[in-house]
Amino acid sequence: MVEDQLIGRGISDPKVLKAFMNVRRHRFVPPSFAADAYADHPLPIGHGQTISQPYMVALMTESLRLKGGEKVLEVGTGSGYQAAILAEICGQVCTIEREADLLENAKRILSKEGYKNIDFRCGDGTRGIEEAAPFDGIIVTAGAPLVPETLKLQLAEGGRLVIPVGGMFGQMLVAVQRKGDEFTEENICGCVFVPLIGEYGWPERG
Ligand code: SAM
Repeated sequence: MVEDQLIGRGISDPKVLKAFMNVRRHRFVPPSFAADAYADHPLPIGHGQTISQPYMVALMTESLRLKGGEKVLEVGTGSGYQAAILAEICGQVCTIEREADLLENAKRILSKEGYKNIDFRCGDGTRGIEEAAPFDGIIVTAGAPLVPETLKLQLAEGGRLVIPVGGMFGQMLVAVQRKGDEFTEENICGCVFVPLIGEYGWPERG
């Protein structure tokens, strides 16, 4: 997976590659999909949600430009796999998920895997986590209609926010960087994520 899917497609940050070597992805997928855990695509994790393709997790992580030891917020815990990758590199990871069952499952797996630097929250991550801000990095693993201002304002000086932005069925992966009160945006690539549902995301359907 690391050689073919990540290095082969240009992922080069040694911290990111090392994190992928350390995290056992098969622990984060439902048992019925264990044989496909390292395949080059997303997999279902229940509640209509997915664990993202390994390359997309690597690209988003690399796009945060982490040096190591930072405090990072992840919106959309899902399986917990992205949180584990971040926890390998960062000092502190805060992860927030709106589906309580998914959060509990991720918490159980991450605790079994030995991670002690992850803070779990259940709720609407489009609001960020005001009391834990500022964050050196914020990664949103669901697709938003727009970049939520709340999240931009919870970035530390020089911090980066990586987020898929666009329609319900296709988005652009965008990196936002804070410099004082100014925010610059850079398009990374097209992507397809499940919707970010919440106050500053998409409305809940039905
Ligand atoms: N990062 C996850 C992983 O490593 O498995 C993949 C996440 S999945 C593609 C997107 C997740 O975002 C889903 O679990 C979904 O329930 C969650 N989500 C959607 N809107 C959210 C919101 N406003 N706040 C928190 N979580 C949200």
